[in-house]
Amino acid sequence: MECACKPAGARRGGPAPSVRAGVDLGGTKIQVVVTAKGARVVGQARRNTPLRGGPEVIVRDVVSTVREAAAAAGVDVGELQSVGVGAPGSIDTTTGTVIQVANVAGLDEPFPLGPAVAAELGVPVALGNDVSVAVEAERRYGAGRGYRSFLGVFWGTGVGGGLVVDGRLLLGRGSAGEIGHVCAKPGGRRCNCGLRGCVEAYAGRGALEARARREARKRKTVLFDLMRKRGRDQLTSGVWLRALDAGDLVARDLLREAVGALGVGIGSAVTLLDVEAVIVGGGLGERLGPTWLSRIEQAAREHTFFRETPVFKLAELGDMGGAIGASMLGSGPRSDPKVQTYADGPSARMR
Ligand SMILES: [Zn+2]
Repeated sequence: MECACKPAGARRGGPAPSVRAGVDLGGTKIQVVVTAKGARVVGQARRNTPLRGGPEVIVRDVVSTVREAAAAAGVDVGELQSVGVGAPGSIDTTTGTVIQVANVAGLDEPFPLGPAVAAELGVPVALGNDVSVAVEAERRYGAGRGYRSFLGVFWGTGVGGGLVVDGRLLLGRGSAGEIGHVCAKPGGRRCNCGLRGCVEAYAGRGALEARARREARKRKTVLFDLMRKRGRDQLTSGVWLRALDAGDLVARDLLREAVGALGVGIGSAVTLLDVEAVIVGGGLGERLGPTWLSRIEQAAREHTFFRETPVFKLAELGDMGGAIGASMLGSGPRSDPKVQTYADGPSARMR
């Protein structure tokens, strides 16, 4: 097996390996992986997403995290074939601009992230939606292998989703698969997106925490004690899991309600699309999945038209899935409207 961990100099004279970098730019962390053929991770680095300083600071931190991951893989940044960036939000593929990125401070205004990162690294950069790239990674290398159609549900701070239909990621007009903003309850709770009754307004970790804070004034709960004990400033997926294990009734009730909302969304999507599988990932999906996946399936069954429900599975690539998927950006068909490569860097001009 090729060892990708030796210093780049050791390979001088030999053929350059086909390595790519993928960046998962999220609200709390920047995760970078360097992948070789077959999406094998040969180096990685992560740091917290800067909370202030604007887009320039985000570009600086993305660039230095890519450099760290490349160093960990033993390759020069110039040897990277491409850098893919997955970001949560809508992306203008013609200009490389992130239009609106949820949960990342400093990216609330349109910003040409693709060209900015490409200019710093001197490597072609491609942008994509974070959930779309994670679903594509599961399709090619994870739990989605072997299915012609599946629904990916990423249950975390928000509830993201992506659809594979007839073997391809369904793009729609660019944003297909938003399972988190399917209505679970008409006239229900206000969602961050402005609509009412969305699945995310009941199941997203952000919404769950806001609800838990209100409940804590009325009922006893260990959620916030556990949070402080673990040195966290928010209710992480791990905190929710521990509260459940401790028999906390607020955690149990809110998560049951969350699963009910997920069931409405997933069951309705399955009825509409008749997919072969439902793949559940994300922070909460990963932590609660092993015990709660069957509850999600049961809740979805109540809203599924067919007697035979699809296979319910957990995502396989874990929290690296987004970055692995981002590293595949730019390697797919050029006609993919959601993927655009920004080759502004000097090395790209030299080609
Ligand atoms: Zn919504």
